[in-house]
Amino acid sequence: MAYQRKRVLPWAVAGGMLALAVAGWASWAGILPATGGVWPWPLISVATHGVKSVSQPPASVTPQTTGPAAGNATAPPSVPAPPISAPALWRVHTVGRVPAATVTKVQSLASSSDMAEVVARALHLPVPVPVQIYLAQTAADYQTALQAQGVPAAQAQRFSRDTGGFTQGTEIVVPLYQNPTDADLANTLAHELTHVTLNAAGVTSTLPSWLNEGLAVTLGMDIQARIANPVVYDGYAKQMAETVLTAAAHGKLLPLATDEGQVLAGNASYDVELQDWLAVSWLVHQYGWQAMAGYLQQLRAGMPSDQAFQTAFGRSPADVNQQISRALQEGAHTLDTGVQLELQVAPGITGQLHILSHGSQQWQSVPLQPGRLLLSVDAAGHVHGPAEGPAVADPNPPDTQTMYLDLSFDQPQTYQGEPVSHAGFALDYQHGMYAFVNGWVTYADGHSSYVQVPQLLGVSLQSVTEPMPQNPIEHLLHTPAP
Ligand SMILES: [Zn+2]
Repeated sequence: MAYQRKRVLPWAVAGGMLALAVAGWASWAGILPATGGVWPWPLISVATHGVKSVSQPPASVTPQTTGPAAGNATAPPSVPAPPISAPALWRVHTVGRVPAATVTKVQSLASSSDMAEVVARALHLPVPVPVQIYLAQTAADYQTALQAQGVPAAQAQRFSRDTGGFTQGTEIVVPLYQNPTDADLANTLAHELTHVTLNAAGVTSTLPSWLNEGLAVTLGMDIQARIANPVVYDGYAKQMAETVLTAAAHGKLLPLATDEGQVLAGNASYDVELQDWLAVSWLVHQYGWQAMAGYLQQLRAGMPSDQAFQTAFGRSPADVNQQISRALQEGAHTLDTGVQLELQVAPGITGQLHILSHGSQQWQSVPLQPGRLLLSVDAAGHVHGPAEGPAVADPNPPDTQTMYLDLSFDQPQTYQGEPVSHAGFALDYQHGMYAFVNGWVTYADGHSSYVQVPQLLGVSLQSVTEPMPQNPIEHLLHTPAP
């Protein structure tokens, strides 16, 4: 999923060209690899966690067939949500060799984010504790655990590649290898806990798949946002949404799916759970969590899904599908309004920040000095900041989807004990949105490493914001539970 792009820099051999560069060039030409001519590009990792999760109701749940409930009260009863301690929430089982520290981490992620309370408050449904959770360390362990849940071998093999979690009834299987970071793991735990809660309430058999998955993704993302660095979360959520916007731009959006089978068939060119997320987020922004809870209560009381939907939201699912498709189409054609960046530079650090905007072949620079550094880059790629330095041409073809922030220090730097040649941050640009991707460090010997946090060598990227956000889906990227 994550891959490393490398491209050859012609200037490493075309030395004569450098003489034509402006005076400012010489002061920072040293950041480029002196030999080898290979520029280690940042990892563009759109979907390290963008793997589907599978949810199935328990075999024992009988679909409600009792018809609409009497009366028309839509206000859900309040759900008592006493604090649930993490050990009380999960009964942890391990499949294969899982380090004890990982089990402890699962418990502590659940406690630090009040996961059970958040899910219960959002859905107005009780979380059925304890939840049985199976932690699988490897793909083989995950397949074993899935087969123990009754998944046929061939399907278990496929799920082990493209799913990040599995829920059946009130049992969860989490493949740890698909959830490498704490943020991924917290997201998956909350996602699957949402499915468990909906399953236990007996609504899954009538709940359309897009609402089931959309609720799970929305609450998973909320828990992730509660524990993640804000710049990292913002970058992650924007990149997730961009995949759906790109499908919309190419006319490849499918209607919101009502049946999980359509999702698992994998016919879409994008992860439809992310479309479900944006649709549920849109509903909650329009009508509030209270209306969502009212809808779930009507389903629980046996009202047919479309009627319950109409009662709770005052419109049909088809109408919502149309609205969200329109917003995605519009979002896919959002114009660039530039970006504002805030950085914090530690005491004792000086140098230059070089910026190559997306689609540009001109590096621009501003001085790095201790303290707060505010700058903006406009839609034409011009940098506005303190004392902009002379522009320097980049000989590579323009990269239309990435903005590079290159850090050049006056002081020799080491990272993890090794001398650093240069370092920086990468931002993804698509559909009017700028998203933090990662940071990179290239060492004196030419090899590189990548960091998933926006802090490097005393320089911290504090915020990445569009000054005039135009994208109609941008406000949907974080929908906190009440
Ligand atoms: Zn799911």
